[in-house]
Amino acid sequence: MTAQRIRPADLVVHGGTVRTFDAEDTVADGLAVRDGRVVAAGAVAGHIGPDTEVLDLAGRTVLPGINDAHLHATWLGARWPHPLLGAPHEETPVVTAGDRRSAILRAGDVCASLGITSYTEPGLGPGETGCFAAEVVDEYAALHREGLLRARVTVLRLFGLLDGPSALPDFASGLATPVPAADPEWLAVTGVKIFADGIPPMRTAWTHHCYADGSHGALLVDGPDDDTRAVNLAAMITLAHEAGLVVGVHATGERSIEAALGHLREGDHLVHGDLVTPAQLRRMAGRGVGLTTQPAIATAMRPMVATALGDEVAAKAWPLRQILDAGVRLTLSSDAPVVTPDWRIHLAAAGELLGARGVTPELTARLLRCYTTEAAAQDGSATWKGSLAPGMAADFCVLADDPLGVALADLPSVAVELTVTGGRIVHKG
Ligand SMILES: [Zn+2]
Repeated sequence: MTAQRIRPADLVVHGGTVRTFDAEDTVADGLAVRDGRVVAAGAVAGHIGPDTEVLDLAGRTVLPGINDAHLHATWLGARWPHPLLGAPHEETPVVTAGDRRSAILRAGDVCASLGITSYTEPGLGPGETGCFAAEVVDEYAALHREGLLRARVTVLRLFGLLDGPSALPDFASGLATPVPAADPEWLAVTGVKIFADGIPPMRTAWTHHCYADGSHGALLVDGPDDDTRAVNLAAMITLAHEAGLVVGVHATGERSIEAALGHLREGDHLVHGDLVTPAQLRRMAGRGVGLTTQPAIATAMRPMVATALGDEVAAKAWPLRQILDAGVRLTLSSDAPVVTPDWRIHLAAAGELLGARGVTPELTARLLRCYTTEAAAQDGSATWKGSLAPGMAADFCVLADDPLGVALADLPSVAVELTVTGGRIVHKG
């Protein structure tokens, strides 16, 4: 009997700490990659052949690639490096196919440099223009055909205006419009985004609390009164489900969360959830309805919520500890370019929200899962991406230090030195 020969790996990294984030939280000392997939985590020597690219980690740490569950990449590319919550900045107009292409490619550079290997473009559709137009999806498909995408993209379609109104007839006709065919591991149009309301600082979150002018906000979905608008929101969610799509609902006020929650099902998610209540969190956990929220927006906006709704309401907003304790399927995300796409800064902000002091490896691991395995689950792709077990997509990043060994507040200074998407090196720092 001769030992069966192993086909050599395309890429091997070794000599460091590989945090696989598999079900057992396996930590390995190396990773072997072939045909874009992980073939071994640990014991990689036998996978090295004459043509294998071998990288010595020299003690550095490998994490699964970061998956930003809510990132307006095309808009980010058009504004880079200027976030919306920052000094006023004239945005590069995105009008032509060439504009769309360069914005997406610029966002690809930014993502690769940050270790981001997947993201969700939350809201591209026929009612919008510029960075949010339906044609952006076509450009993604073209870039994928040309092998130029450096991160995997999940798209939520939008049949109204971003941060604005939508109407049921437009939603229904939008659903019937085609999307370009593409390899779903790289460009997956999985769902729809619906704007239920606005945000508390603009007094557009729909809430039982009272703004300084006596108003309460309202649903953005078209209708003559609150009840009709809620019925139309429910009808949109039902139509999306009937089309086999998942639903992401932008909802910041607890009344709009309430209006959506009764109609959402497992696999759907709420976006932001600023004023979510403990009772709503329990229902979300029980029904498998997820939440994606942005810690660095929470820390930046809390004073504005206090101005709009008072200190007491602001203190209870973004209840990250309760979200985690309730067992809600939580993803963390940036909503870039509203704020930075840098996940290290968002995790530091999450630490601030949680009052985390010092080094808490378990908490850091939990939060990193919200940017990796949980985000893959939101994409409906947990079976093949998000962790680094054998068979999974070879999407990973190499960090100068082990994030589980530093305080969350110090994470932003941990360098991202290498990013690999689908077994291909897309960034080398
Ligand atoms: Zn957004």
